[in-house]
Amino acid sequence: MTRLLADSETLRAAMPGILAAFCESLGLACGARWSMDATAGGFRCEEAWGTDDPRIAAFLAESRRSIYQPGHVGFIRRVLGTGQPTWITDLAADESFLRGEQAAKAGLRSAFALPIRLGEQVLGAMEFFHREKRPPDEWLLETGVALGNRIGLFVARREAERELRESEARFRSLTALSSDWYWEQDEQFRLTFISSMLGERTGLDATSYIGRKRWDQPALNLTEGDWDRHRAQLERHEPFSDFEMERTGPDGNSVWLSISGGPVFDEGGYFRGYRGVGTDITERKRAQAVLRAAYDELARSNSELQQFAYVASHDLQEPLRMIGSYTQLLERRYLDKLDQDAREFMGFIVDGATRMKQLIEDLLAYSRVGMRGRELTPVQAQVALDRALLNLRAAIESSGAAITRDSLPEVNADDTQLVQLLQNLIANAIKFRKKEEPPRVHVGVEDAGSEWRFSVADNGIGIEPQYFERIFMVFQRLHTRDEYSGTGIGLAICKKVVERHRGRIWVESAPGKGSTFYFTLSKVQKGQT
Ligand code: ADP
Repeated sequence: MTRLLADSETLRAAMPGILAAFCESLGLACGARWSMDATAGGFRCEEAWGTDDPRIAAFLAESRRSIYQPGHVGFIRRVLGTGQPTWITDLAADESFLRGEQAAKAGLRSAFALPIRLGEQVLGAMEFFHREKRPPDEWLLETGVALGNRIGLFVARREAERELRESEARFRSLTALSSDWYWEQDEQFRLTFISSMLGERTGLDATSYIGRKRWDQPALNLTEGDWDRHRAQLERHEPFSDFEMERTGPDGNSVWLSISGGPVFDEGGYFRGYRGVGTDITERKRAQAVLRAAYDELARSNSELQQFAYVASHDLQEPLRMIGSYTQLLERRYLDKLDQDAREFMGFIVDGATRMKQLIEDLLAYSRVGMRGRELTPVQAQVALDRALLNLRAAIESSGAAITRDSLPEVNADDTQLVQLLQNLIANAIKFRKKEEPPRVHVGVEDAGSEWRFSVADNGIGIEPQYFERIFMVFQRLHTRDEYSGTGIGLAICKKVVERHRGRIWVESAPGKGSTFYFTLSKVQKGQT
């Protein structure tokens, strides 16, 4: 019977032989195995064997048709319910035996049933029949119970094997479908297995790593110290993730690998090595390097430009001052010797020099926004507005402007630049007023989630939509100097200040209807003050 079990793939295949051998060797008339059938919702007869007798065949056929609901009454159900063997000395006298009539017709007089168990778990039951009335036979029951236990073990083992096969199949399809590879290391950290995807993805030869430690071969990005740290981590049996190695590929190019792994312990809790996965991150690294280079280049050219604007405007001041002072000298000493034309030309030179001075000063102010910016700290916007209005007192008084305001919050800002920002916007609101009415300016603020949205609204001449972007560029103006004074740097400075604060600035306006300039500033985080 042990051989029968060993040779069979399934219990279903082994059972007919086992039932036959058990019955024949002990002179039993017939036997069957029962188990729970979840789809049928009850216990059913799975396999049966009987001596060559049509009446017994009929009895077994009846058994196969029967399905018993779970419960503690009944012959088979008692065994399945309690996990204990049962003996019926006289079938005709036992009420709990439901197939009594058919058994009598088949000449069956007594019976016993045995559990098929795996530890405490009852997997099924076997029943056997005698032609004679027989009292319980302890030896027979013991032999039967031992057989039941062995069948239970067989079922458990086959089940475990099936699960193992399934999990291996799952693992295989997982590694086949994934673009990552799987690896294993022994307790000495020697690689014992690497799945084929390593070679397919990177061109690296997996066999050259087998039997060796990760640090036996060079990685271009790692120093001795890096390897020591990695090794120490493994020696502490810690999991690790995204360990990056730059190896040299077959074509001499760099291949970047990212490795993650975890320690493996056996049932005894003994360390058995590591297992984990690897990913080819060459593309990502390449993209990162390109991005990094572009960023560095941008930062470099930006600061160069900033420096250039500053130096140029700073150094231009000196020759300009010279032009100014010598024209003044000319004027003072030779004015009476010059004719009308020459005086007019002198006037143009002075005017040009004055304008150029203004332009240079504006350019300097513009380039200073980025260069001399201070740390952003919590600032009371109310205070910044007060200072801006104080600086604009003359313009406000002479124009008769009415300035109103919301109560302003605390913001993250460079306070000098915030004053400059508000001042430029309010100055424009006053400057670009309508001739026929005095300017009205409102400084407002709205809560926009993580930031505040400020607004400076006027009742001035307004702006055509096609200029909404252009007016924020350096030296871009919509009017001649005769109409409105200025160089066109004010809004460019506002934009630079706001962007330095990681905010946005824009305008909404219609010609003749006034303009509203908006800008955002981030809120002060709780606990920051
Ligand atoms: P400037 O004031 O020196 O001309 P700005 O950069 O401050 O330079 O403004 C650029 C242009 O945007 C101005 O010349 C003007 O045409 C337009 N502008 C700015 N603010 C307003 C406003 N409040 N109302 C109407 N137009 C404005």
